[in-house]
Amino acid sequence: MPSEFEIIGRYFTRPARTASLGVGDDAALVRPSPGTELAVSTDLLVEGRHFRAGADPRKLGHKALAVNLSDVAAMGATPRWATLALSLPDVDEAWISAFAEGLFALAGRFGTELIGGDTVRGPRSMCICILGEVPQGRALRRDGAHADDDLWVSGELGGAALALARPGIEEAERRLDQPEPRVALGTRLLGRATSAIDVSDGFAQDLGHILERSGCGALVQYEQLPKCAAFARIGQPELERECVLAGGDDYELVFTAPVTERAALEALAAELSLPLTRVGAIHAGAPSVSIVDSRGHEVRVSHGFDHFAP
Ligand code: ADP
Ligand code: MG
Repeated sequence: MPSEFEIIGRYFTRPARTASLGVGDDAALVRPSPGTELAVSTDLLVEGRHFRAGADPRKLGHKALAVNLSDVAAMGATPRWATLALSLPDVDEAWISAFAEGLFALAGRFGTELIGGDTVRGPRSMCICILGEVPQGRALRRDGAHADDDLWVSGELGGAALALARPGIEEAERRLDQPEPRVALGTRLLGRATSAIDVSDGFAQDLGHILERSGCGALVQYEQLPKCAAFARIGQPELERECVLAGGDDYELVFTAPVTERAALEALAAELSLPLTRVGAIHAGAPSVSIVDSRGHEVRVSHGFDHFAP
């Protein structure tokens, strides 16, 4: 059976590219580009909580990194470096190899370098810490929304939650297992969006975080929200509302922008081949979300995900 150090050497060590010092010392060394600040975020995935026992390791490698890339994207930052803390119940080399493949495939697409980590025996879990660069003072924060800004959403919502509620729908399963972090969009929103967040815990709840931090309210048109296409075939409006408004794990970006940015954002959507949909507006007042149907009636929302909810 390989030792801890053989596992690290075999599966998690690649030649350093942009780090001054990568895997193998007590700490890695990185040099941020002049004029940038670091956007640092970490996300932990735990078996039984975020993924099922027996989940495909390649997809887990993808997802563990994707959820972190999504946080960096929501700041408008460019992902550069990551560390990986991995806890494994046993040394299953086929599992480790597939996990590493999924992780490095996604890392390669975004030019993100794995520069360190920790490998221990324990319940299966993986924690990635990611470092991205963003021009100093220009990050997309949650507290920048203003009254009269438009409210936008990328891609489509509800697919990941649909996969949990109704297993076996391929496009929904893909949304759950293989989320696509909106990195290019995030960086292109710098100087255009006034605030942004990624949808990890549910659209209504995550939008609520922008409103609380920005001190304003939002009116959302339910019909305008971009929804996973499978909902049209299934025809269960209640399930659709629950998944679209309260379902997590979609990793789309919700952002606000002045109305003067409409044409530029429509052009950006075309350029990135990524739908960007205007779903409502920000207004002065209490930090609450009001979601209405085409007749102006309020659409009720249950809470988004909360690990410590009773
Ligand atoms: P230390 O005992 O000094 O914390 P370790 O023996 O845990 O160092 O790790 C040795 C080297 O391997 C370190 O550079 C660490 O960052 C790296 N490393 C450990 N586990 C991983 C992993 N899963 N992925 C990437 N690098 C790792
Ligand atoms: Mg260690």
